[in-house]
Amino acid sequence: MLRFWLAALVLIAVTDLARAADRLNVVASFSILGDFVRNVGGDRVNVTTLVGPNSDSHVYVPAPADAKKVADAKLVFVNGLGFEGWLSRLLKAAGGKAAVVTTTAGIAPLKVGSEADPHAWQSVGNAKIYVANIRDALVAVAPADAEVFKSNAAAYLADLDALERNLREAIAKIPESRRKVISTHSAFGYFAAAYGVEFIAPLGVSTESEASARDIARIITQIRAAKIPAVFMENVTDPRLIGRISAETGARVGGTLYSDSLTGEKGDSPTYIAMVRHNIKALTSALSL
Ligand SMILES: [Zn+2]
Repeated sequence: MLRFWLAALVLIAVTDLARAADRLNVVASFSILGDFVRNVGGDRVNVTTLVGPNSDSHVYVPAPADAKKVADAKLVFVNGLGFEGWLSRLLKAAGGKAAVVTTTAGIAPLKVGSEADPHAWQSVGNAKIYVANIRDALVAVAPADAEVFKSNAAAYLADLDALERNLREAIAKIPESRRKVISTHSAFGYFAAAYGVEFIAPLGVSTESEASARDIARIITQIRAAKIPAVFMENVTDPRLIGRISAETGARVGGTLYSDSLTGEKGDSPTYIAMVRHNIKALTSALSL
């Protein structure tokens, strides 16, 4: 009897190994995208994320190990719209043969001056387009698992629908005159356009340059003139800038908004859905009367 159970255990272990071995190796450029891919791919994919939790994709410097990860991947999921400025060099270092999937395909980009705003995931409606693009790319490369990818995507899209309903309900409860906040960099343009909260930021759509004294003076004038109730920190930028603006204007620090990166497993926003819920809660508690 014991021998039977041992044999059964070995069989289970071997089957698990085989299943792990035929999983699709894919890469996602940053943590939010990695979460989307995991939700669609489920246990049929191994997802490796290049820019990890609490890290800034705008100024990322790829390591030699990243080139190996890209070379070993069947698909490389990226945001596009200029978000990963380091991507073309990395693809070249990886041998130039990677199959790249631009997950913002089909999203109408917002423009800030002449630049495209890359933060399209901040609208949950857009997140659904990312998910559909990921699903279609996985189905194309692993048609045998098409049904799994389609049903995973359908379940996740339903969760995103529910999330967006909650988001709209929460914003509707904030008095209209108080729906304006300061964040560090211009990462919430799509959120603002979709949900009607005004965001003003001392930094542009990238975090590559620092705010000048003039940028900060302009923000301080705006906060006073428009009576902006709250300023927010981000997990990917230096909190001291927002601290200074708060001290000068009396606008209170409403906590942290997650813009470009998830937290680690132990943080409060380890997934996209948790991140949006966290941001709703932070906005609601800072802006409600
Ligand atoms: Zn950003």
